[in-house]
Amino acid sequence: MTDKRPPLFIQADADLTLDPADWEEFRKLCHQMVDDNIDYLKALRDEAPWTPTPAIIEEQIGNEPLPEQPQGARSAYEDFLKQVRPYSVGNRHPRFWGWMKSNGTPLAMMSEMLAASMNAHLAGFNHAPKLVELQVIKWLATVMGFPATSSGILASGGTMANIIGLAVARHAQAGFDVRAEGLFSGPRMTVYASVEMHSWLKKCVELLGLGRASIRSIPVDSAWQADVAAMRRQIEEDRAAGLLPLCIVGSAGTINTGSIDDLQGLADLAEDQGLWFHIDGAIGSMAAMSPNLKPLLKGMERADSLAFDLHKWGFLPYEIACVLVRDADKHHAAFETPSPYLQSGGRGVLAGGLVFANRGPELSRNFKALKAWMSLKAEGTIKIGAVIEQNVAQARRFATELSTIPEFVIEAPVSLNVVCWRANPPGSTPEQQDALNRELLVHLQETGVAICSSTVLHDRFVIRLAVANHRSRWEDYKLLLASLPGALQKSKAASGLSV
Ligand SMILES: *Cc1c(COP(=O)(O)O)cnc(C)c1O
Repeated sequence: MTDKRPPLFIQADADLTLDPADWEEFRKLCHQMVDDNIDYLKALRDEAPWTPTPAIIEEQIGNEPLPEQPQGARSAYEDFLKQVRPYSVGNRHPRFWGWMKSNGTPLAMMSEMLAASMNAHLAGFNHAPKLVELQVIKWLATVMGFPATSSGILASGGTMANIIGLAVARHAQAGFDVRAEGLFSGPRMTVYASVEMHSWLKKCVELLGLGRASIRSIPVDSAWQADVAAMRRQIEEDRAAGLLPLCIVGSAGTINTGSIDDLQGLADLAEDQGLWFHIDGAIGSMAAMSPNLKPLLKGMERADSLAFDLHKWGFLPYEIACVLVRDADKHHAAFETPSPYLQSGGRGVLAGGLVFANRGPELSRNFKALKAWMSLKAEGTIKIGAVIEQNVAQARRFATELSTIPEFVIEAPVSLNVVCWRANPPGSTPEQQDALNRELLVHLQETGVAICSSTVLHDRFVIRLAVANHRSRWEDYKLLLASLPGALQKSKAASGLSV
């Protein structure tokens, strides 16, 4: 038979490799990378939080043809220094309070390198990195008040962690083998959450095949908490109409205002109605590390599944989140997928099997657990909890001091680490105020004062200061507060409001 495979020009004994040709040269470069980047982090405070990416950089990055010839590691690194590093959104900075992004930590920067140095594959396998992830999950379960027997997995972010939680809920609550049958039979399954629920839930029900119509959006009260009585009525109505109520999703810190639902009330309702209770704690769950804040989260420990981010209020660099599932068997049942090429015996590299592949949709997974493990060991939960508590104290004090500045108001109770505020000069219409606050927000960003973000509350544009920042000092808030009167005048002029 003729060999129809294409001929090769690289021989089997060519011994090509991507390891450095000169290890000592590479070592020097690496030491320089570490030094440069530690210097950079040390001096961060002296820079503006955000520098817009110049058009020339956009061109340089966007028009560079596919590199065929080697440029060399040093030269690639120099391009990173010139073209990439200076132009971040600024979330490493002490005056970054937008969305809910944190800084990352220098130790975690190095942990990421160490994790990559092991290039560990976290489907499971018989190696120490698996033990590290299992231990991090166990520690986090302790923080959240979950039983030692609960299961969990680290995920890329809150979105994925929440989706995993709801996938377990769907399988556990469907009443038939939804993994085998899909959703082609049986009544519509419904999911209950407040109107303030983050948009992950929409993506989630779409991906799980439930469809957006399965979301029952429940109104909130004046504290932006889900109306538990209204949720109960909706569940009962839906059941009477022949639907299958599946799951209640509570918020431990909403994205808009940081409000925490009445988690006890929701847990009672879920128990009473026989529904799964999932909590999106992407923002707020980590507050459990502060003994003084933990009481705000009462009821969180009763959830069937709980998702939370560590790249927000855990201060770790992207990506890392966690989902805990109270019933380990149900977690497993939702994902276990045996295959002939992944059989584990009791011995060898695959001993113990693929624990994590059986707890989520991913097979190949990185060693994100290492940065959490090292951070928890190095700092301890008391210190991390204190930094979290400091952020809440900062948010509260910022709100108090802001409300003493003429023409500024707080727009929602500051229940955690989010302050929603806006300028409302007397005599201006709500529409003029929207335009003014849009201008003010961007003015503060562009002039390097601070990065805040925005949202809409009661149909009005509000500026949002969200604190998950271990570098913010009180002086940083003072700088923002002191800049506001001047920034307001400039923004009035720019937005066409007569001063
Ligand atoms: C950020 C956030 C999410 C999504 O988490 P990612 O880590 O961005 O995927 C979900 N819920 C809330 C309340 C959030 O703040």
